[in-house]
Amino acid sequence: MPGPLAWIDAELDALRQAELLRGLRTRGTAQGPKIELDGRKLVNFGSNDYLGLAHDPRLATAARLAIETDGVGAGASPLVTGRGTWHARLEAALAEFEDCEAALLFPSGFAANAGTIPALIGQNDAIFADAKNHASLIDGCRLSRATVDVYRHADCDHLAQLLAGTSAARRRLIVTDGLFSMDGDLAPLPKIAQLAEQYNAMLLVDEAHATGVLGNHGRGTAEHLGVEQVVHIKVGTLSKALGSAGGFVCGSRKLINYLANRARSYVFSTAQPEAVAAAALAALEIVRTEPQRRQRLLAAAADLRARLASQGWELTSSQGKQIANTTTTLGPIIPLFVGQPEAAMRLSAALAARGYFVPGIRPPTVPEGESLLRISLSFRHTPEMIDGLIEALSACR
Ligand code: PMP
Repeated sequence: MPGPLAWIDAELDALRQAELLRGLRTRGTAQGPKIELDGRKLVNFGSNDYLGLAHDPRLATAARLAIETDGVGAGASPLVTGRGTWHARLEAALAEFEDCEAALLFPSGFAANAGTIPALIGQNDAIFADAKNHASLIDGCRLSRATVDVYRHADCDHLAQLLAGTSAARRRLIVTDGLFSMDGDLAPLPKIAQLAEQYNAMLLVDEAHATGVLGNHGRGTAEHLGVEQVVHIKVGTLSKALGSAGGFVCGSRKLINYLANRARSYVFSTAQPEAVAAAALAALEIVRTEPQRRQRLLAAAADLRARLASQGWELTSSQGKQIANTTTTLGPIIPLFVGQPEAAMRLSAALAARGYFVPGIRPPTVPEGESLLRISLSFRHTPEMIDGLIEALSACR
């Protein structure tokens, strides 16, 4: 008799046949622009280490010193005994950096979204979510049990229509990525904020890919677009440009007090290790004092985008083209749309054979027909590495 897990074989076969099976890779060196992946030496365009801080010695020193005094594990959830002085200092520093009254640390960015959304909204409420939101936002919406109205990516006319049709909802929440993690474009936040105000909706923006990267001070998409004061709930992560780990939410003091009581992923999960918080604090200081990192990164990204477009690569999704007048493409995530999963995996393998790692992205991460190669740029990529990637891409077409 087949065992109760026998069905898994068929599921894995189906994924394999659709070119959607994922395997585990092992990075054998530190995160950075050159890595060893499953034993192969590759120039790496597949990390979110945008500012090149993941292996910065200043973060490592901060973590080491904190480990020496405070050990490794936090040992408890934050409300019991898990919240240490490093966490308190980091929350204060994040609030100051973000120009908000208060901030709250979560074990990860995923946990921040999955805990915050259901705390804010429930049955009899309505959520309005961009079609290309990150999985953690989608799961947060599902956990909330609210009605979820999905609007076409960055399409404010569609959002307005949906908002107009929900007069019976008790509370409304608009949820969007700031800088979209796969398409690399920005949410049209000024118009979204205007609609939020018109319909008395809360506005949550996930700045995971934009914190440290966009805006004059590096606070993200809302700062870049000049709408910080109208974003009620800002979610961020320490795991990308900040080179560390953990998620955070910032906003008004009452919002943070409420989430500390009601966000289940905060209340019921062990606090992040203090050494990780110490490293993030060091990273925040670098973001504050070294704006040239994000400036150089953005200039290199704009240059790479222009060169790839002139080679004829498709940098905008089909949905993106329809809303080209309302969205902006900016920042270190540069997608090359190739359509089918096999095409994405073939191109990714051909680049790897030439020494360049660029991950192929397939459903369910992206919609059917929108498989892509996701180039992510880091401050630590040299002009030679970027030239090499462009040459390899042109040879692999
Ligand atoms: N939001 C977005 C938009 C993301 O891309 C990610 C990570 N891929 C997260 C949240 C989750 O952040 P973390 O990796 O810190 O859990």
